[in-house]
Amino acid sequence: MTALEDRAIPTYITELDAAGLRDFVRSLGWPAYRAKQIARWVYRRGIFDFRAMTDLPSEAREVLAERARAHSGAVVTRLHAPDGTSKFAIAFPDGQVIETVLLAYRFGYSVCVSTQAGCRMGCRFCASTIGGRARDLTAGEMMSQVLIAHAEALERPASGGAGLDPDDPDSLAGGATDGGSADLLGIRRVVLMGSGEPFDNYDQVVEFIRRLMDPELLGLGARRITVSTSGVVPGIVKLAHSGLGVNLAVSLHAPDDATRTLLMPVNKKWPVHDVVAASKEYFRLTSRRVTFEYALIKNVNDSKEHAEALAQLLSGFPCHVNLIRLNPVSAGKFEPADKYTVEEFVATLAARQVAVTVRRRLGIEIDAACGQLRRRLVPTFSLGGANGGEDEPCG
Ligand code: SAH
Repeated sequence: MTALEDRAIPTYITELDAAGLRDFVRSLGWPAYRAKQIARWVYRRGIFDFRAMTDLPSEAREVLAERARAHSGAVVTRLHAPDGTSKFAIAFPDGQVIETVLLAYRFGYSVCVSTQAGCRMGCRFCASTIGGRARDLTAGEMMSQVLIAHAEALERPASGGAGLDPDDPDSLAGGATDGGSADLLGIRRVVLMGSGEPFDNYDQVVEFIRRLMDPELLGLGARRITVSTSGVVPGIVKLAHSGLGVNLAVSLHAPDDATRTLLMPVNKKWPVHDVVAASKEYFRLTSRRVTFEYALIKNVNDSKEHAEALAQLLSGFPCHVNLIRLNPVSAGKFEPADKYTVEEFVATLAARQVAVTVRRRLGIEIDAACGQLRRRLVPTFSLGGANGGEDEPCG
């Protein structure tokens, strides 16, 4: 490789697992503990400028600044809502742009990560799928999203992370072995609920989860991680057997095949009963309660009969239903259910002992940009292939 090429293709720290990072520092002729030092800055402290990594010798800092980058994402747009939600449009070196959301909860911050640029599942109410799938994201690109959101969270006043418990062994704060106050303000949860179908990119998603959980990198507990699927049954079963023990959310959206097929083409391949059976298998093997997501759509899946059929379907299964009023997608034909219908739906489920919550819609003020954000950037970044917009309904 010529010197010029060498400069043109930096090593991205996020593209390496812990062993890869050690190999990288060894290849530079440094002791292995440099890997730990670099990881601490990048993953724990949200510092991406190698020159600011004060426990590294100054020559090492220069070499890293020359040859490496902390992560591969460039923030092209940031939107902030008054409730603390931030959305980022992030470009990767090949010009693909994706969206990431930082959500501020009472218990701390969550990051909603995209797993693919675009999506090919074709759900009729979802903006992410409009232009199809452009490409899968790598584990490192998923990690880049977490780090960008983490750095943003660290910049906020301490109150933004209120509720983080440094003594909780399952939290980022507790996982930090090196102390340091900045560690206490980190990300509490990672949800794979941005654009893309995680199980359509299974290997990279699992690698990402392993790195999130690796104490040498982020050290996030399995219970802080949620994978959301449109109902790709083999993926559910494989994850159940993976031993990772993360949370599973399944986008159900209808209790019967006729309605679900209308909304989600994936239902033709894996119908409702197969999806629920796989979810039960997930619970049996992991003891993690599965969440069923259900977007209430006016006159499509929001009747009392639908609620009763849903209660019947899930009866006796210790799970959780998460309702959300549809976020209307521009040019889409579906409308959100009326507010009183949501209340009735909740009441019907609750009366039949189904655990149900209604998802708070965070970032409502920046919803206007949902879906438009990625697409607006298309001319600038000349996305190859699909250029669908994205809706970020995680809230
Ligand atoms: N592909 C995965 C994860 C991404 S979507 C999945 O399908 O689960 C995250 C969640 O948002 C899913 O439950 C999805 O069905 C839902 N969703 C998509 N578009 C929506 C919209 N317009 N309104 C409400 N929820 C939506």
